Amino acid sequence: MTVRVRFAPSPTGSVHIGSLRTALYNYLYARQQGGKYIVRVEDTDQTRLVEAAVEGMIEAMAWAGIHHDEGPYIEGDHEILEKGEHGPYIQSKRLAIYSAYADELLEKGHAYYCFCSKERLEQLREGQKAKGLTTRYDGRCRDIPLAEAKERVARGEDHVLRLKLPEKADIAFEDVVRGRVVFNTADLDDQVLIKNDGFPTYHFAVVVDDHLMEISHIIRGEEWLSSTPKHVLLYEAFGWDAPKYVHLPNILNADKKKLSKRQGDVSVEDFKKKGYLPEALINYIALLGWAPEEEREIFSLEELIEKFSLERVSKSGGVFDVHKLNWMNNHYIREAGDDRLVEMAVRHLLIDGVIKDEEIFALTPWVKRILLLEKEKLEYMQQISGIVREFMSEEVTVTEEAAREVLKADHVKGLLTAFMERLAALESFEGEAVKAVTKSLQKDLGIKGKDLFMPLRVGVTGTVHGSDLVETIGILGKDRVDKRLKSIINTL
Ligand code: GLU
Repeated sequence: MTVRVRFAPSPTGSVHIGSLRTALYNYLYARQQGGKYIVRVEDTDQTRLVEAAVEGMIEAMAWAGIHHDEGPYIEGDHEILEKGEHGPYIQSKRLAIYSAYADELLEKGHAYYCFCSKERLEQLREGQKAKGLTTRYDGRCRDIPLAEAKERVARGEDHVLRLKLPEKADIAFEDVVRGRVVFNTADLDDQVLIKNDGFPTYHFAVVVDDHLMEISHIIRGEEWLSSTPKHVLLYEAFGWDAPKYVHLPNILNADKKKLSKRQGDVSVEDFKKKGYLPEALINYIALLGWAPEEEREIFSLEELIEKFSLERVSKSGGVFDVHKLNWMNNHYIREAGDDRLVEMAVRHLLIDGVIKDEEIFALTPWVKRILLLEKEKLEYMQQISGIVREFMSEEVTVTEEAAREVLKADHVKGLLTAFMERLAALESFEGEAVKAVTKSLQKDLGIKGKDLFMPLRVGVTGTVHGSDLVETIGILGKDRVDKRLKSIINTL
């Protein structure tokens, strides 16, 4: 069997990381099996469309490195084109196809026209709710003879097309993750297949398209599990073989609820904006629902392709832990090439207004020095903005209790004053020269170890923690160090 899988997003906004994971698993499986990975845009719910969401989705996937073999892509500035032989890959361009298949179902007696008004359906729902019943269509139009229904349609009466579910029948299917799943049609609705506006519903379009696009495996989120029996029935009604089903567990918040926006960043765009590396995000989400055989956590995309298996997809949801993601991102930042990091850093500094366009050329080497000194600390690249801002500041604020304690010692004022004076006399402000000054202080004032370095550190940076002090002083430069020391000495 040729593996053909698809990622089928609805363009209703930004790309949730759950969708990225669905796309990723489909992609990994296709690449591993030498199959094809298809992107199909499911835009049949015209009321929920968000402008430019298709472009956003394509860009997010390209950024993440998940490239598809068939489907829409962007050419030049904004033009959306399609590649592949099973198109169109955008559902709103396939209306004629759905209409032909809808007719087939109607003729075969697996679907019927329904003329119930919105008001009636609303009343029905309210009534059922009040009685504590499951809300479902009561089948009033099920038995209207086809000829009569067709006449009413021809007269222009408002209508939808509904699936005619067999009554009280068990529908079973095999799910690769969950095993055998059974639903009874008593718990299902006579699903609308074609809406009043002539557009198909998701349920109808998804089945027609997956069949015509020769999809072998449907790998998607578990929220679609309860829709699957309707799809299985449609396959049966058409006399088609259904693909294999793989329903992925939800991604959860720390409180075990489905991950939602309220808890913080959830979209690929959010993570991209904050400066997460795509390989870190991919690595992290790959493990949210799939467990590798080995006890390790760092996997490149190539390794994921090699190791991924549907059998090791778990039933229970993976908890999204941003600290873990940050740890992983930090790992990839430390591994990344300097040029790439500098480019990312500069981009963040521009966006955050820390530097201006016209300063890029002059400041890039300086930014690079800061980055090399501080990159071990970065959880995501946007943090560089705060760090560079601190390096630009001519004042230090001492907020830490430990730092205040350091400044309380009697020798500190004299030490910092001598330090300031000796630094001011330097011509070169680089490593060896600054080091020589600290050595001379040690010798002349007889202060050493912590008593020497802690006050110097707090005097220059305001904190007891931090990166290499000599390099920090070099990056800050003579002028800033001088002003910083002066301002601290004045408070003593
Ligand atoms: N359009 C659906 C979505 O937005 C796709 C569900 C499926 O993969 O069948 O998630």
